[in-house]
Amino acid sequence: MILSSRVKEAQASVTLTVNEKIDQLNQNGVHVYNMTSGQLPFKPSSDFVQSILKQLNFLKSYQYAPISGVKELRTKFVSWYEQRRKVNLAEYDCIISNGSKHSIYNVLGALINPGDEVITLAPYWVSYPEMIKFWGGVPIVVKSHAFDAYTPSIEDIEKAVSPRTKAIIVNSPNNPAGLHYSSEWMKKFAAFLKDHEDLIVISDELYSELSYFDPRPRYFYQEDENLLKQTVIINGISKSFASTGLRIGYCISNPKLIAAMGKIQSQTTSGANSLIQRALLDVDFEEMNKYFEPVKEQLRQCSQLMMTSFRDAHMSHCYYQTNSAFYYLLDFSRMPFFDKLAKDEDHSEKIVQDILDKTGVALVPGTTFGFPNSARMSMTLELAPFKEALEKLMEFFTSK
Ligand code: PLP
Repeated sequence: MILSSRVKEAQASVTLTVNEKIDQLNQNGVHVYNMTSGQLPFKPSSDFVQSILKQLNFLKSYQYAPISGVKELRTKFVSWYEQRRKVNLAEYDCIISNGSKHSIYNVLGALINPGDEVITLAPYWVSYPEMIKFWGGVPIVVKSHAFDAYTPSIEDIEKAVSPRTKAIIVNSPNNPAGLHYSSEWMKKFAAFLKDHEDLIVISDELYSELSYFDPRPRYFYQEDENLLKQTVIINGISKSFASTGLRIGYCISNPKLIAAMGKIQSQTTSGANSLIQRALLDVDFEEMNKYFEPVKEQLRQCSQLMMTSFRDAHMSHCYYQTNSAFYYLLDFSRMPFFDKLAKDEDHSEKIVQDILDKTGVALVPGTTFGFPNSARMSMTLELAPFKEALEKLMEFFTSK
């Protein structure tokens, strides 16, 4: 059987490979501190669970949902956004998809012609470059540095723009860096966009409700609402409702793009999960936020622990302050153990394997996030095992 060249060229998600290794170790009775997770280890709030239970009794919950989503829920997401961001979205529409990954995939499908360039800011979420390539586009990567808190400069973004640039993906709060770009950065980005009216911004805001230190995330279009005309907002319930398996994502943008995405959805997946869309109609989104307070407190404590661990190990130069999502990007290149390795090669996978073998801590290699010689660590373990894992990591990092 000969597979398509499109699929042959695509990279499988690295997290899947890592998780297979962990499963194997667990089966052999080896204890692993699993710090690879991309989800919170909690059930969603009981309000949400109750409304799902209630909807189980209705026939409609088992039937096709409208292609672009239940109308009232689309409106509810738009109103929620107006309230949260304090912007007027009267001219804009919303489509509901099977997770925000699906929304991003459809946005790219609706926008990209073969050869179009899409700028992504490294470190980036693993799937952006693959999805861009899948639709025939060309990912253009703008790098950042650990000592700039993983925030790419507007000057570097400007340099990456070419006559073929169609869109730029901005992911704030960022996976894997665990931080959101500052308000100052968003202001500068807004100014840059005013000179690039044809550039479409795909603003992936999946973690926007999961920020645990002030100031909270702010967005470029809050500087100037005119910028909404060239903006595609992406969000979903996976992270902010602790519901990765329920597969609901959404996109807010101009009605022309939303209709184009509906067209793709109509010939591929049809509408998203009816039961969950109907259950979400009953949920008070504001209450959901309160439910996350203990989670945020734990993240604050993990972040504090990171700071003291790096300081006590005399590696404060490797520390940066995370403030949102639940990740930390470890830059190996400035750690003592790295001295013996060739500086101009990427050793992420080998290092992550070595860490797993020697300490039992599982991380995700940073190469696939566009950041060589690094690894993503999830801060979702409970505080006691998190502390144990961190102690083991520090021992490895400081080894010569
Ligand atoms: N965007 C970012 C930045 C992510 O980290 C993820 C998942 O981890 C997604 C999008 C896709 O999430 P989902 O499809 O579950 O909504």
